Amino acid sequence: TQDQLRQAQKMEAVGQLTGGLAHDFNNLLTGMMGNLELLQMRVARGRLDDLDRFVLAAQGAGRRAASLTQRLLAFSRRQTLDPKPTEINRLIAGMEDLLRRTVGPAIDIEVVGAGGLWPACIDAGQLENALLNLSINARDAMPDGGRLTIETANKWLDDRSGRERDLPPGQYLSICVTDTGTGMSADTIERAFEPFFTTKPLGEGTGLGLSMIYGFARQSGGQVRIYSELGIGTTICIYLPRHHGDAVLPEQEAAIATAATV
Ligand code: ADP
Repeated sequence: TQDQLRQAQKMEAVGQLTGGLAHDFNNLLTGMMGNLELLQMRVARGRLDDLDRFVLAAQGAGRRAASLTQRLLAFSRRQTLDPKPTEINRLIAGMEDLLRRTVGPAIDIEVVGAGGLWPACIDAGQLENALLNLSINARDAMPDGGRLTIETANKWLDDRSGRERDLPPGQYLSICVTDTGTGMSADTIERAFEPFFTTKPLGEGTGLGLSMIYGFARQSGGQVRIYSELGIGTTICIYLPRHHGDAVLPEQEAAIATAATV
């Protein structure tokens, strides 16, 4: 469809746009160097009071720069795909600790795994990255805490958005991540899958999370949908084609270990 074509063109533009990320990164480095320089001048003059703020500012910039490169790395890892029949509930269970640590104690995580869930033939590392990104977005949307629900089911698109008729028929399973956060405006929903679209401050959002998830779902023969209401919360569902046959046990540890550094 026209939509998919546009999305594909945007994904192609990603390569060119990484220049923009390099620019953001450079800004953060400049901030870091500037603060270190001020620190050095103060030390050289023996003015040792109130030095903390320079250190803290430099650390903050460094941390944001590190998170930027981590996300960029996660994004480029997208290219190396290794799809295998995977037990999704098991994969999610293996990530629960990581997700809890990621969202922090103010957010309750509830995992509702459907019994008899079909396996899906996917790249486990990519799905882990997707769930991690969705959880980070959920956390960012719930600064005062709330609830994060991850629910799997043997079902194709919910008809909530009322626009699903053009999709191919088939047997699909869903992985839905719901938060009780700010919700998204119609404008944000419209642009959310665009690479580098973000409403977050410089250095905090890359705008790559949802576009990566979109790419992953489409490459896996599936779909992603956003159901969101301002002031109520957001549900983002990934729909994946059912794999006919048994799942092999996913070798998740390595992928989880790399995801944990994001
Ligand atoms: P990033 O998180 O780096 O901004 P994403 O592609 O993951 O990039 O998300 C794009 C934008 O979509 C976010 O900046 C935010 O405005 C919005 N968004 C994504 N997930 C949520 C959510 N769970 N709740 C509210 N807004 C969201």
